[in-house]
Amino acid sequence: MTRSVWEARAFHSQPRLTVVGAGIVGLFTALLYKRRFPGHRVLVVERGAHPSGASIRNAGFACFGSPSELLADIDKEGADAALCRVEERWRGLRELRAELGDEHIGFEPTGGHEAYRIADFLYPRVAEGFDGLNEMLQPILGQKAFHWSDETISAQGLHGVSHVAHTHLEGPIDSGLLMRALLQKAMESGVALRTNAEVLAIEEHAMGVRLPLRGGEVLESEQVLVATNGYTPALLPELDVVPGRGQVLLTEPIEGLRLRGTFHMDEGFYYFRDCAGGVLLGGGRNLDLVGESTMTDGTTPMIQEALERLLREVILPGVDFRIARRWSGIMAFGKDSKQPLVMRTSDRVGVAVRMGGMGVAIGIRVARRAVDLLAG
Ligand SMILES: Cc1cc2nc3c(=O)[nH]c(=O)nc-3n(C[C@H](O)[C@H](O)[C@H](O)COP(=O)(O)OP(=O)(O)OC[C@H]3O[C@@H](n4cnc5c(N)ncnc54)[C@H](O)[C@@H]3O)c2cc1C
Repeated sequence: MTRSVWEARAFHSQPRLTVVGAGIVGLFTALLYKRRFPGHRVLVVERGAHPSGASIRNAGFACFGSPSELLADIDKEGADAALCRVEERWRGLRELRAELGDEHIGFEPTGGHEAYRIADFLYPRVAEGFDGLNEMLQPILGQKAFHWSDETISAQGLHGVSHVAHTHLEGPIDSGLLMRALLQKAMESGVALRTNAEVLAIEEHAMGVRLPLRGGEVLESEQVLVATNGYTPALLPELDVVPGRGQVLLTEPIEGLRLRGTFHMDEGFYYFRDCAGGVLLGGGRNLDLVGESTMTDGTTPMIQEALERLLREVILPGVDFRIARRWSGIMAFGKDSKQPLVMRTSDRVGVAVRMGGMGVAIGIRVARRAVDLLAG
C-alpha cells in the first residue's frame, strides 16, 4: 500500500532515535532525550500491545537494598562499589518520585522490612554488621536507615520469624500506575510509540540503522537504543546479559490482613507485600537457577508450591487463603556483575540493559546515562 504525504511526514519520517523496548528504561530514555532535543523525532518500538516486560510484571518495591543484601555486596565487591550502587538506587527513587509524583506511582510510605526466620544463617552476620552498615549509609541517606523492629512479627501476623529489620525510607508502589504515568508523560512530550512491533534484528549501515520487524516491515533510524533488558540475548547474544525469570503470586483479598509494607527474606530471594487487599509474594528463583535463566514467561509447580508453603508457614499462618493470580517477569543479570550495562555497541547503536532486581530504583538514572551516551 502506498502512503500519503501526510502519513509519511507525520508517522513515518526517519527518527533521530529509535528506542527498542517500552519498559521503564526505554520510556525514560525516550522522554529525557526528547526533553534535551525537542526538535528530534523519537520513536519507541514495543513488541507487546503495551509495555510488557518486567516493569509491568514486577513486585513494585521502591527499595535501595536490605541489610543482608547490602552486607553481602560489601563483602563481595568492597564498600565503595556497593555503596555507590546504594546511592544510585536512593537518588533514582527520589528522582522517580519527583518526576512522576507519589500519587501517580501509588507510593505508600508503609516501610521496607527484612525478616529473618528462626535459625536464619543470615541473622548473625546482619546483627554483627548492623550498626556499621547504618554508619556507612548515613552520608548517603542523610539519616539512619535501619532499625530493629521485632514487634512487627506479631503486629503483622508473621510466624517462624525471630527478627525484623525495618526502614521507613522504602515502600510499595503500583507498577501499573507508574508505567501508565510514564507512558503518558513520554507521549505528551512528543515521543512516538509503535506497539505490537517486534524488532527482529539491528542492522547498521552507512546511513543509519535498519530494524526489520516481525511481519516484514522494516524501520530505519539514525540511532538506536536497545532497552530490552532480559530479552536482549535475542537481539545481541554477544553481550553479558543473562535472563532471570521471577515468579509471583497474589492471593485473593484477605479480611483483616495485618501485613503492611514490603518485606525481603532469604537474601532477597523471597519478597512479599500487601497488594489489592491480599498478599503478593514472589521469588524462589534460587530453587532452580538454571531452569529460571530463561526468556520465556511462565510458572512452574515447584516454585509456586514453595511460594504457597511460605504463605502457609510464615506469612499467613492459619489463614484460609486462595490464589487469585500467578505470573512471571524476566529480569536481566550479568555473569559476575550487578552493574547495569550502558554502552555503545557501535557508532549508531547503544544499549541500556541489565537492571537486575533494581529497575524501579535505577531505571531513571540508567536512562539519564543512556541519553548522555547518545548525545555524546
Ligand atoms: C517478578 C519481578 C519482581 C521484581 N520486583 C522488583 C521490585 O520490586 N523493585 C525493583 O526495583 N525491581 C524489581 N524487578 C526488576 C524490575 O522490574 C526491572 O529491573 C525493570 O523493570 C527493568 O526495566 P527495563 O525497562 O530495563 O525492562 P522491561 O520492563 O523488561 O522492558 C523491556 C521491554 O522491551 C520489550 N521488548 C523485548 N524485546 C523486544 C523486541 N525484540 N522488539 C520490541 N520490543 C521488545 C518488552 O516487551 C518490554 O516491554 C522485578 C522484576 C521481576 C521480573
